Amino acid sequence: MQHRAIIGLGSNKGDREFYLQSARFLIEKELGSILQRSSVIETPSWGFDSDPFLNQVVVMETSLGPLALLDGLQSIERRLGRTQKSYLKDGKPVYHARTIDLDILDYDRMRYHDERLTLPHPHIAERDFVLASLNELNLNLTNHEDTL
Ligand code: ADP
Ligand code: MG
Repeated sequence: MQHRAIIGLGSNKGDREFYLQSARFLIEKELGSILQRSSVIETPSWGFDSDPFLNQVVVMETSLGPLALLDGLQSIERRLGRTQKSYLKDGKPVYHARTIDLDILDYDRMRYHDERLTLPHPHIAERDFVLASLNELNLNLTNHEDTL
């Protein structure tokens, strides 16, 4: 069975365009087909003081379940040179510059929560660039009457 996932891509370190392109290539090769992609936009780093990001949102079709999809995305992150994870310090997230960040923003409109995965992604509504990219693709994750 095919599932519909929305993936947020971000890079703020090194050749950012190359990392986004490589991530899209590996997603298609290993995880499923990309049906739609937003423009790449540059955004100030969010939640920490660092270089600006290039961000993009893609809609993909996959036969993988949500945790297997997360495994696949994290494997791509590692191969593209992502070295540090965000972590909590005194209850607040600590972020780092990253060559590539791949987040599952939505998976079949599923609600899910465990220590590895929260769906939909908890920061969608707080990050303007995500909303702008979803808008560009005519997707609205807060409204169930749209084109998803
Ligand atoms: P962030 O994306 O918030 O900047 P990280 O990429 O370092 O931070 O991710 C931290 C952890 O978030 C990952 O190890 C992953 O298990 C978890 N996580 C929870 N929900 C999601 C999701 N929807 N998509 C991607 N990662 C998620
Ligand atoms: Mg992430």
